[in-house]
Amino acid sequence: MIAEDLHTQTLTQLAQGLEQGDFTSVELTQALLERIERLGGDLNAFITVTADRALAAAERSDAARAEGEIGVPGIGVPGIGVLNGLPLVHKDIFCTRGVLTTCGSRMLENFVSPYDASVVERLSAAGAVMLGKTNMDEFAMGSSNETSYFGPVRNPWNLECSPGGSSGGSSASVAARLTPAATGTDTGGSIRQPAALTGTTGLKPTYGRVSRYGMIAFASSLDQAGVITRSAEDAALLLGVMAGFDERDSTSIDQPVPDYVAGLGDSLKGLRVGIVRQHFDAGLDDACGAAVREALAVLESQGATLTEVDLPNLDLSVPTYYVVAPAECSSNLSRFDGVRFGRRAEDPEDLLDLYCRSRGEGFGAEVKRRIMTGTYVLSAGYYDAYYLKAQQVRHLIADDFRQAFADVDVIAGPTAPTPAFKLGDKIDDPITMYLNDIYTIGANLAGLPGISVPCGFADELPVGLHLVGPHFGEEQILRASHQYQLQTDWHTRCPEAFA
Ligand code: GLN
Repeated sequence: MIAEDLHTQTLTQLAQGLEQGDFTSVELTQALLERIERLGGDLNAFITVTADRALAAAERSDAARAEGEIGVPGIGVPGIGVLNGLPLVHKDIFCTRGVLTTCGSRMLENFVSPYDASVVERLSAAGAVMLGKTNMDEFAMGSSNETSYFGPVRNPWNLECSPGGSSGGSSASVAARLTPAATGTDTGGSIRQPAALTGTTGLKPTYGRVSRYGMIAFASSLDQAGVITRSAEDAALLLGVMAGFDERDSTSIDQPVPDYVAGLGDSLKGLRVGIVRQHFDAGLDDACGAAVREALAVLESQGATLTEVDLPNLDLSVPTYYVVAPAECSSNLSRFDGVRFGRRAEDPEDLLDLYCRSRGEGFGAEVKRRIMTGTYVLSAGYYDAYYLKAQQVRHLIADDFRQAFADVDVIAGPTAPTPAFKLGDKIDDPITMYLNDIYTIGANLAGLPGISVPCGFADELPVGLHLVGPHFGEEQILRASHQYQLQTDWHTRCPEAFA
């Protein structure tokens, strides 16, 4: 008799169940595929479901377990690793060999990748079973999942609302218990903001901690791969597998990977938590602010000390980001021209027509807006005024964080200014949409790790607490999150329709 509640369990619990022989990976995979089939339609969280492939991988994992082939996790190591037949899903920005990889765009509507991204390779080598590829904002540009060519994703807490973006398919599928975990990417907040809006845990590691190889590039100096899970403990488990040097990514950093799970147990006694006063100024929804303040009080009751820190240039982070990110995207996306990469327009009159129509038809409105902004700020005459200036401000913001981390271990605040908003509400107003990431973008500009953990509700919608650590301070923010989750049960709440 297989437990009927497999979908409610965390990765850590499922790993134990598999280990004890309570159920097999095939049974677990079947149970989740059945949920995806039955409940997934309304959410539109998946672009591709890889059912046959998942069942085959689960069978291999069960067989390996039966034969006691315990492999060491790592690239190309046979046998089973720490993820032992555990299911997960990948954001459709990660290249997956032999599987459609669209990046949420018409441009890559038919692209089947010939190779696996490093993240995919490492997780598979550790035994993870991929259930499918999740919907996302086109080329990860967006905060609501509404820029996807494949249509918006719905929030399991309220189907009229957005699950956040750009990793909206990942956040919605974890929140709806269609999968225990998902990968995501975060250039300005795309893991943490959707995690906040769906009551899930979202971790963006330090820039360079996880390889970007095979992750379709948006803004290369900001992009970082991470995870959306139901607990900090699960995020620690996955990060331990994903992190590490990769010679195929020139910005990958060669630094030992700690045992993130082992570090979770220590108490918060003496942890110095910095609060940014400006984060609680106008612009923050009252009920969200109240939930975050309560969460800070919980950390304090666990032995952390709260002090105010000043990040004087932080209010420049959104405008800075919207110069740097479009500049980099205009360069990265130039390869999608219908010749080298991407969809090719039919019956072109000449080469110029081929380029223009391939790009004109392949990209959506938001991507075009970014490419045009980026081309403009990089053009001769404007380069100094915009791009160079933005790079200078980026340094100031990074310096502010550096100084703040001389006095504190972790910086805490809200993840997003409001709870989930209605689909359609902000899509025609880019500036309002861009302000969704006002609390998260700073960490990307400075390359710092950040996590969002569920900390309450506002208007019956989840609210996220945001913790930022110094470079390679993943252990600190994971420990603080885990200890907080031992004291609270917000992360265990489930939308009624998906219980
Ligand atoms: N919402 C931000 C943007 O549209 C961040 C996206 C991301 O982190 N990928 O650029």
